[in-house]
Amino acid sequence: MTDSPDSPARPLRVAVVGAGPAGLFAADALVKNKSFDVSVDVFERWPTPYGLVREGVAPDHQSIKGVTRVFDRVLQHPAVRFFGNVRFGEDVTREDLTRIYDQVAYAVGAQTDRRMGIPGEDLGGSWPATDFVRWYNGQPECADLSFKLSAERAIVVGNGNVAVDVARILLTDPEVLARTDIANHALEALRHSRVREVVLLGRRGPAQAKFTNVELKELGKLDGVDVVVAPEELELDYASSSAVEEKRVARNLEILHEYAARETTDAPRRLTFRFLVSPVALLASDGDVAAVRLEKNRLTQSEGGYLAAEGTGKYETLEAGLVFRSVGYRGVALPDVPFDDRRGVIPNLEGRVLTSPDGEPAPGEYVAGWIKRGPSGVIGTNKACAAETAAIMIEDAERLPVDPGVDVDPDSILALLSERCPNYVTADDWRRLDEVELAKGSAEGRPRVKVVRVNEMLDLMRKRGEG
Ligand code: NAP
Repeated sequence: MTDSPDSPARPLRVAVVGAGPAGLFAADALVKNKSFDVSVDVFERWPTPYGLVREGVAPDHQSIKGVTRVFDRVLQHPAVRFFGNVRFGEDVTREDLTRIYDQVAYAVGAQTDRRMGIPGEDLGGSWPATDFVRWYNGQPECADLSFKLSAERAIVVGNGNVAVDVARILLTDPEVLARTDIANHALEALRHSRVREVVLLGRRGPAQAKFTNVELKELGKLDGVDVVVAPEELELDYASSSAVEEKRVARNLEILHEYAARETTDAPRRLTFRFLVSPVALLASDGDVAAVRLEKNRLTQSEGGYLAAEGTGKYETLEAGLVFRSVGYRGVALPDVPFDDRRGVIPNLEGRVLTSPDGEPAPGEYVAGWIKRGPSGVIGTNKACAAETAAIMIEDAERLPVDPGVDVDPDSILALLSERCPNYVTADDWRRLDEVELAKGSAEGRPRVKVVRVNEMLDLMRKRGEG
C-alpha cells in the first residue's frame, strides 16, 4: 500500500533512531507541527530511553534529569511509539526503515571517545572517561568494568565538563553519592576507593578551558577536598587576554583565582588543576600505567585566530595509577548510512543527510543531535538542533511524491520486530521498569535505583506485565 501522507488516517510516517535527548526532542517537534499529521516510531538499542540523560548526566546532577518529564510526555503521546532493545544495523536496517517510513531521522549521539594518540594509551589503568561515566551511570555495557581505585592519584586529561564530572565523582564523599541514582556497583567500588588526589590536565591555558562556570564552581564546594591551582599557572599570555572578554571565560578565571588564593588544609582529598601541559606518554610498571610523562606547552596563534598548544621541549613525570582521557566524544558510523570520518558525524546540510560531505541529499533521511553537529553543547542544546531538523522534515514532506513508495501499514514494523527481535520493548514496558526503579529508590531515600542488566530489565518488564 503506498500513497502520500495527507490525513490522520495516512499520517507522515517517521522513524527516529535513538531515544536520547535529540531523538525525543525531534519526535516532540514532529508531533507538535501544525502542517502534517505525523506518527513517529522511536527505535533505541537499550530497553531504556533518555540516552545521555540516563547514561551521561552525573548522578549528583539530578536537576538536569528533570527533562525526563518532557521525554515521558513525548513517549506517551498517542502518535509516538517506542521500540527499545532494537539494534539498528542488526535487528532493523537502513533498508527496512527507508522501505517502511516516509522519513528516517538518525539521532544516535556520539558513541565513542576521542583518543590522545600517545604511547601507553592502552595500558591497564588508562581509560576513556566515557567508560567511567557509563559505569557509574549503570549503562549495561560498562557495568562489569573494574577501575583501579586503589591508586592514590588519578589524572584526568581534558578541560571540559566531562573531565569535571569524572573528577567530582572520584572526589565526592560516597555517602553523598549514596543519595543519588549512581549505579550500586559504582557506589560500592567508590566506597573502597583510595584515590586521594585528582589532577586535571589542560593542554591549553585557563582562558581556553571549556568548563562552564557552575560546574567549575561546584568543584570548589566538595567537602573534604582541597582545591589547588598554582597562581603562575593562571598567568595569561597576550593572545589569551582577548578571550577574557567572553563572560564565561572571565568568570572561570575569577573562580580559578579564588581557588589559587585558598590556603590548603589537611583535607583528606585534593583536586589539582594544571594548565599548558600535554601527556606525551603513559609509562608502565608491571604492565599497568604508573606515571604520565608531560610536556609543558605554550600557545601559538594559528589561522583563524585559534590558539593552539605547542610543546616547549620541557618535560616532567607525574606518578598516577589511573588515567582518564576526557578529550571529547566521537560519533560512530551506522551500518549503510553515510559518514564523515574526519568530523565523526553523518554528513548533512541543516539536518538533511548528504551522501558524502560534498554529496547530494539522501532523500527522506535526516539527522539530529551530536551525530549531526558533533559532541558539543548541553542537553538543552539538542532541543533547538532537533527542532531545526524537524522543521526541515516537515518542509520536505510537502514535496513528497504522490506515491512515495513506502509500505505505510503501521503494523509492518511490528511484524518485522516480532520476527527479528521478539524481545523488543514498548513505552508501557519501560514504564513498568521505571516504576520498579523509582519504588526501589523511594524505599532507600534515593531518586531511583537503576537496574543495570538487560536480562533483569526485560524480566521486570515482562513479569509485572503478566502479573
Ligand atoms: P569538550 O567540552 O569538547 O572538552 C574536551 C576537552 O578535551 C577540551 O579541554 C580539549 O582541549 C581537550 N582535548 C582534546 N584533545 C586533547 C588532547 N589530545 N590532549 C589533551 N586535551 C585534549 O568535551 P566533553 O568534556 O567531552 O563534553 C562534551 C559536551 O558535553 C560539552 O559540550 C560539555 O559542555 C557537555 N557536558 C555538559 C555537562 C554539564 O552541563 N554539566 C556535563 C558533561 C558534559 P582543547 O580545547 O585544547 O581542544
